[in-house]
Amino acid sequence: MTTVDHWVNGAAFTGESSRTSPVYNPAAGTVQREVRLATVADVDTAVQAAKAAFPAWSGASWAKRQTVMFAFRELLNARKEDVAAILTNEHGKVLSDALGEVARGLEVVEFATGMPHLAKGEYSSNVSTGVDVYSIRQALGVVGIISPFNFPAMVPLWFFPIAIAAGNTVVLKPSEKDPSAAIWMAELFKEAGLPDGVFNVVHGDKESVDAMLQHPDVASISFVGSTPIAKYIYETASKAGKRVQALGGAKNHMLVLPDADLDLVADSAVNAGFGSAGERCMAISVVVAVEPVADELIEKIASRMADLKVGDGTRGCDMGPLITREHRDKVAGYIDVAIEDGSTVVIDGRGIEVDGEADGFWLGPTLIDRVSTSSKVYTDEIFGPVLSIVRVASYEDGVALINASQYGNGTAIFTNDGGAARRFQNEIQVGMIGINVPIPVPVGYFSFGGWKDSLFGDSKAYGPDAVHFFTRQKAITSRWLDPSHGGINLGFPQN
Ligand code: NAD
Repeated sequence: MTTVDHWVNGAAFTGESSRTSPVYNPAAGTVQREVRLATVADVDTAVQAAKAAFPAWSGASWAKRQTVMFAFRELLNARKEDVAAILTNEHGKVLSDALGEVARGLEVVEFATGMPHLAKGEYSSNVSTGVDVYSIRQALGVVGIISPFNFPAMVPLWFFPIAIAAGNTVVLKPSEKDPSAAIWMAELFKEAGLPDGVFNVVHGDKESVDAMLQHPDVASISFVGSTPIAKYIYETASKAGKRVQALGGAKNHMLVLPDADLDLVADSAVNAGFGSAGERCMAISVVVAVEPVADELIEKIASRMADLKVGDGTRGCDMGPLITREHRDKVAGYIDVAIEDGSTVVIDGRGIEVDGEADGFWLGPTLIDRVSTSSKVYTDEIFGPVLSIVRVASYEDGVALINASQYGNGTAIFTNDGGAARRFQNEIQVGMIGINVPIPVPVGYFSFGGWKDSLFGDSKAYGPDAVHFFTRQKAITSRWLDPSHGGINLGFPQN
């Protein structure tokens, strides 16, 4: 069995740890390789490599750095099928979805190729007689990135292209569940001409994450994962004096008004509920149906679900397996909770027939009606192919329900009433909103992030927020002396 190594200073690195973790093929249910779990010393080796690379990389001209960024963009675009195959193999998502993941990551690389413009400073001439003031933005140093299992390529790509284009050096700790895409991208970046030590990858679990949070030479932490860990990361890294952005979990609602096009709603609910087996932080997990639409809508959703093909992501199926057996069992357990709590299980995904190996981590699309808002089916982030229906009497009840949620990542409204949609965008307490769009992930030149327990910190991912996050500003007040000027004045400088 092969072992996935770390990547430090432009080469594979085994480190000192003897601890490993299994990497599954979720469609087969078998362990296909293992991944090393770094020690504190291994993390330090990676940080020291990044620290040593920082002066030359941050000091290189914009033109030199951009040449590498453009080459990386070209290589990633040319070989996206290769990394998509890795994603399907280790994560389980179907190939077309894996290609979509890479395409959304490529958007951020393309945004980062504009960094010389994005990181420009400001200039004010003659603020006082003979005095000019201007600002420049500079890289932070070594930046740490910690990513989740559900987008092994896209989530790292939300951060490292912008960080690197801005002149930082990086230590990435990807999810230990699907670690190979990160290594593939690091190798590709080297091929694009990135100097050794600028982009490093260490694999690991809590031990390596804690080492990054405490390391005095790590300037910032960008984290994406579940809410309890995001909160822990935010508190711990802030206390250690780092700049932190920590994106957490979600429970995304789709509000359906009675005037909506119910065929569009049903298509959107199925796509956004079951794409990537519901393992997306922007998945729709709750449809909030304003009566009297629920019965008709459920019929339309259920008929579409009957046509979904579940199976191995390489075989042209619609939906793949879940990430691990434990996670599949946990998600399936919510169907029992729904029954105990008096909900109506319209479609039970357990025991579904699949186009794949019997031991794969399968669970079919599941639809649950009349979910009580006090049930764990409603309050927990399930992170699987389970779509809940909550029936409400009015627009106002729907908005109150969504605003009461602990999470505020994404939401959507489906209606043909522009006034209602406009009211919704103003009244809803959520960071990313779709109007007749079910998964409103902003394009690469906006920023991505939720409100409330879906984001700790004040910087979203990618887009303009990321340019600010990965640089710090200096303001310079300058005067080139005119020989006639000067004299003693102990007062505070004024205009
Ligand atoms: P996770 O929180 O279990 O793990 C995320 C990262 O943290 C991994 O690298 C993991 O190794 C590390 N980690 C896990 N436990 C840790 C601990 N106790 N201490 C320190 N580090 C730890 O999340 P996951 O299961 O990999 O990913 C799914 C979660 O990520 C979901 O909650 C999903 O909503 C969320 N997510 C959010 C966004 C977003 O943009 N808000 C995007 C993608 C995923």
